[in-house]
Amino acid sequence: MNDPREQEAPSHFIREIIRADIRADKNGGKVYTRFPPEPNGYLHVGHAKAICLNFGIAEEFGGRCNLRFDDTNPEREDQEYVEAIKRDVRWLGYDWAELRHASDYFEQLYEYAVKLIETGKAYVDDFSAEQIRNHRGTLITPGQESPARRRSHKENLDLFARMRAGEFKDGEKVLRAKIDMASPNMNMRDPVLYRIKHATHQNTGDAWCIYPMYDFTQCLSDAIEGVTHSLCTLEFEDHRPLYDWVLDEVATPCHPQQIEFARLNLSYTITSKRKLNQLVQEGHTTSWDDPRMPTISGMRRRGYPPAALRDFCNRIGITKNDSLIDFEVLENSVREELNQSSERRLAVLDPLRVVIENYPDGQTERFPALNHPFRDEFGSRQIPFSKVIYIERDDFMEEPAKKFFRLAPGREVRLRFAYYITCSEIIRDAQGEIVELRCSYDPQSRGGTSADGRKVKGTIHWVSAEHSAAAEIRLYDRLFLSANPAAEKNFLDHLNPESLRVLSDCKLEPSLLDAESGARFQFERQGYFAADSGDSKPGAPVFNRIVTLRDTWAKVRQK
Ligand code: ATP
Ligand code: MG
Repeated sequence: MNDPREQEAPSHFIREIIRADIRADKNGGKVYTRFPPEPNGYLHVGHAKAICLNFGIAEEFGGRCNLRFDDTNPEREDQEYVEAIKRDVRWLGYDWAELRHASDYFEQLYEYAVKLIETGKAYVDDFSAEQIRNHRGTLITPGQESPARRRSHKENLDLFARMRAGEFKDGEKVLRAKIDMASPNMNMRDPVLYRIKHATHQNTGDAWCIYPMYDFTQCLSDAIEGVTHSLCTLEFEDHRPLYDWVLDEVATPCHPQQIEFARLNLSYTITSKRKLNQLVQEGHTTSWDDPRMPTISGMRRRGYPPAALRDFCNRIGITKNDSLIDFEVLENSVREELNQSSERRLAVLDPLRVVIENYPDGQTERFPALNHPFRDEFGSRQIPFSKVIYIERDDFMEEPAKKFFRLAPGREVRLRFAYYITCSEIIRDAQGEIVELRCSYDPQSRGGTSADGRKVKGTIHWVSAEHSAAAEIRLYDRLFLSANPAAEKNFLDHLNPESLRVLSDCKLEPSLLDAESGARFQFERQGYFAADSGDSKPGAPVFNRIVTLRDTWAKVRQK
């Protein structure tokens, strides 16, 4: 991560805690974090925040960060997600010290559970999930103890071993911690530590039919790996006493510190794997990597540079207050990064044919064009020019509005890098639609400045018809019309019906014909575009609009 902008990150409370810990020589000055996704879906922009925080902190303090799959719900998890998550973390620019699975520790966790039974801190209960719920009490009333709480250690050990051996059906028994059924913290009212699930696991196959719960697994996995700072989102704040209780009772040699931070919520966006899954399953988007999806894979396919996501995560900072971050903040990070890093090209999205009548038939000139306005190292290219060109349909107005300085009948404009042209005639089809313009050019204005110093107000882009590459361009817009779709009764009612517009007859300058999959460009005056990694082929390019040049959303919506 050598981007100088990233080093200016504002400090935040977690960084300050860690600095203080290092000063106090806590954990021998070591910083060990982890990113613990459940492989039950694709990672989204919210996970990017957690990834940048965990890996970023480890990097900053010379520590280590593991990637750990929190894989304790076999029915929901899949190897496909495991692979996707690894790809996404790497793409964001991070590498893990070690790749682990919570399931790697199943045997050890079982031993720890046995230890809790032996010390009288856990018992096997016969209650169903519903009975447990009914006995849990409320925030103002204590819960009721299960009769099984009085079981002997011996009986508990025997039952737990038989749970493991597969003697019981799903839901017939659970292992619970023996804490306090009257605790004001509901998580401490004898939480379930293990349940029975006869299901095949993506990592351990059929080796197990009992699976540990999140609250038992997470803290112990952290301790086993020697994690020093266990960073998680705010919904786990009320679980921290249980996190600490388990570690204290098991007496692990290492006791990681859990620190909670606010989740990322982004306007016009859904950040829940379950809901994103629904979008794909019900066909509202085409796939997990549909460029409209806020998944890391969707953003990658859309063309977002990983550095832009890291920059975004730095800018939003880390706090303990839940808030809704404006989608514009993300788009601005993307724009700024692309402005620095992407070469410029000419592309006409909605072509209108222009014949330059006084230009010699069959002649081709080539104009040099800088690939980047302020990065000379990007070099230049030659753009061919000939008698028939395409311009953008909305760069012409038959009856120009007041502040419209582009092409109009009798009006002169500059063709970028080329000549001044003046529109002399409009050609229409049988339906009266404009299909062609006839223009004349000033041979003295070669390169875009006239010999007599005559000024024109408008400069427009163009491509030579004969040399142009035909392309499909996909214009993406926000997936939702509601600023906070997650808060709506049914988020699906707020999908933007115009989130994708396909332009099938775009004309690009020839250098774009063989654009590499994923290559990003600024199409001058239009925005930033990436060659689609799924559908773009050399000779048949397909481009995704990554982001517009400016924030046009507010204006568009007022129309
Ligand atoms: P989802 O509700 O989308 O399934 P999750 O929290 O269940 O999300 P996990 O796979 O368990 O997803 O998350 C892995 C890590 O990423 C956790 O530490 C979690 O706190 C963090 N994380 C998930 N969503 C966000 C978010 N929106 N902002 C910040 N961190 C997040
Ligand atoms: Mg989760």
